[in-house]
Amino acid sequence: MLRNDQMDAWDRENFFHPSTHLAEFARGNLPNRVVTGGNGCHIEDRNGNRLLDAFSGLYCVNVGYGRQEIAEAIADQARELAYYHAYVGHGTEASITLAKMVLDRAPDHMSKVYFGLSGSDANETNIKLVWYYNNILGRPEKKKIISRWRGYHGSGLMTGSLTGLDLFHRKFDLPLTQVIHTEAPYYYRRVNLDQSEEQFVAHCAAELEALIEREGADTIAAFIGEPALGTGGLVPPPAGYWDAIQTVLNKHDILLIADEVVTGFGRLGSMFGSDHYGIKPDIITIAKGLTSAYAPLSGSILSDKVWKVLERGTDENGAIGHGWTYSAHPIGAAAGVANLKLLDDLRLVDNARDMGAHFKQALIDAVGDHPHVGEVRGEGLLCAVEFVEDRDSRTYFDPSRTVGAKVNAALLDRGIISRAMPQGDTLGFAPPFCLTRAEAEEIAAKLGDAVKEILG
Ligand code: PMP
Repeated sequence: MLRNDQMDAWDRENFFHPSTHLAEFARGNLPNRVVTGGNGCHIEDRNGNRLLDAFSGLYCVNVGYGRQEIAEAIADQARELAYYHAYVGHGTEASITLAKMVLDRAPDHMSKVYFGLSGSDANETNIKLVWYYNNILGRPEKKKIISRWRGYHGSGLMTGSLTGLDLFHRKFDLPLTQVIHTEAPYYYRRVNLDQSEEQFVAHCAAELEALIEREGADTIAAFIGEPALGTGGLVPPPAGYWDAIQTVLNKHDILLIADEVVTGFGRLGSMFGSDHYGIKPDIITIAKGLTSAYAPLSGSILSDKVWKVLERGTDENGAIGHGWTYSAHPIGAAAGVANLKLLDDLRLVDNARDMGAHFKQALIDAVGDHPHVGEVRGEGLLCAVEFVEDRDSRTYFDPSRTVGAKVNAALLDRGIISRAMPQGDTLGFAPPFCLTRAEAEEIAAKLGDAVKEILG
């Protein structure tokens, strides 16, 4: 076994960690953490620390750590057949079964699923398919994609462009010109505080329509959005938002991509966020919760309307020129099948709904009245606490004070992993669906202590 000091040296010398301050890490000013095990809602590191992971890794280990059923399914598949590709009609029992299980759970009008590896590559696929779709329909100009500020859709070239967060654009020459951004449905952060929810929703829809009219509807192919904003702040939409947006999109014949990488398979307490909010997407992006991250796998679920045009395209042009070596990887597919079974057998989506309501209330009880807590919000097991300098005016703290990061660190000192979201001082919570009442209350109580330590 590698000695700790050797591992630390190799780590800093060789390993390019994503989303990390590279220079600080190389200098040794940022701590590393070597994770060695996990069970239920907890992970362990090599120093013997046992931490309650209230963010499920990167909100992906939805069924919790250490699930032997999934590990066995992966091992069985690896022993039997670790790999075969899915090109030209090939498949495995696992990939065929998983496609059926995904479609059985997806909204009724969905028709086919394409499997990728990550949320980013699934969204890259989606944009290519939307472009292909419009080319087949003889509308080569209808190509731009509308996304929202604060949306997160990945960090590739196209998907990093769709992402509406400055951090992911800065110094990367993004966004690409085909992507345009519109207002985020972030009611708490509305410019005009006098607006009711209804008025704010009307404002978001009007902004979208004005953008479409400025650009020309015949240049816009699709709108992409997360049912509830994730990385951009964990923000459930105001009531009526999706109805209003869909009315505008339908009027201008613009496809809707629901990015359910976070919300798919139960995070909001419903199987899909689209069901939860009455969204009727043309394409749904799935990843994280599909396998609970036991193996990398993502997917693009296509509606019948989109599929029929793609079929026509291949009649006219031959086989579709799109695919990854690892599309529908058998090990990922086997993990997906076992994961979705577990979700059903243990009724984990119901627990996400019920425990989510309890957890949010516990957070409100713990910190809701604190003068520097602007909002506690959430839906299912996706919750956030937003800190502000001043509650009435909702003024942000000066970013140099890194208040969110400090509360996050104070919570970690108490054995709880949350996530300081990249924009503003918002702390995110997205625990595994097997969260117990005692664990929910432990997180809330320790958050109360951490907030007191940092903000008085
Ligand atoms: N879409 C959403 C909504 C996400 O939250 C993420 C990842 N957090 C992605 C896409 C990208 O997924 P990945 O990191 O697997 O590429």
